[in-house]
Amino acid sequence: MTAKIIDGKVIADEMKAEIAEGVKKLAAGGIKPGLATVLVGENPASHTYVGMKRKMCAELGIESFGHELPATASQQEVEGLVKTLNADPKVHGILVQLPLPSGLDEEAVLRAISIEKDVDGFHPINIGRLAQKGREPMFVPCTPAGCIILLKKAGAKLSGANAVVVGRSNIVGMPAALLLVKEDATVTICHSRTKDLAGVVRQADIVIAAIGKAEMIRGDWIKPGAYVIDVGTNRKEDPTKKSGYRLVGDVAYDEAVEVAGAITPVPGGVGPMTIMGLMQNTLRGAQMTAK
Ligand code: NDP
Repeated sequence: MTAKIIDGKVIADEMKAEIAEGVKKLAAGGIKPGLATVLVGENPASHTYVGMKRKMCAELGIESFGHELPATASQQEVEGLVKTLNADPKVHGILVQLPLPSGLDEEAVLRAISIEKDVDGFHPINIGRLAQKGREPMFVPCTPAGCIILLKKAGAKLSGANAVVVGRSNIVGMPAALLLVKEDATVTICHSRTKDLAGVVRQADIVIAAIGKAEMIRGDWIKPGAYVIDVGTNRKEDPTKKSGYRLVGDVAYDEAVEVAGAITPVPGGVGPMTIMGLMQNTLRGAQMTAK
């Protein structure tokens, strides 16, 4: 059996067209969605990510307001900027690029963001609501939300499915597991202390891999017909590439594709969904102010 390939780029492009339509509708009412980005310090990867997000805003007609603070910025300065952005009516979403330089209290900064503008969905109240039955967060973290969209678009039946999430980080694994619970899946969360990981993954109708270890999940761990979402983005040496490396996921794709029912490639699976989730959340933030 060869798995159906879940093309994140195509699905993200569909979302992009819908978001562009939503932006146009708001513009007719005189509202332009605005995203403020807060970048603290000199982390090159963070600069690249913020640059990509702002470029996508420009493509969609979303205004972006870039704010940069030095790595030496104090807790008070970072929180002060967030509070100023909370009060700015042109800003509908605030994105504080993580990780913050050491010495800053990340949770306190995230807590300072107004939950109505928490487009990354990392405010403790939004995460708390995600974990509670009958409560809904204002915003859901973008990468996990993208995983669920990909599963649904691929035709996975989530209700009652046995889902295994490998990884329990605050930004991917844990919110992905909470979202699956909201979808009525029966969820097992695995991490570095899990015993017999292969045996647990073998029971899964749905696998979400968010580990950060190149090709760790092997093809013979996958239950035939399972839906596999690979969040991992890892560099693997490849002398045939000019850069000397290529990107691979946490799943051994060439093996898993022979067993799974459907699978996301890396790159071109979850990655394109993350940035589009942020755009969608920013649009929603602006739509809420229009009501
Ligand atoms: P973290 O490092 O924060 O979390 C990794 C998780 O994997 C932890 O829960 C850890 O367990 C678990 N883990 C580590 N080793 C093992 C092991 N041997 N067996 C089982 N579990 C293990 O990573 P992130 O969640 O931030 O990211 C995960 C991956 O997703 C990375 O490759 C990252 O680059 C990628 N990513 C991709 C995005 C996209 O848009 N495509 C967005 C965000 C991330 P423990 O808790 O016990 O330490």
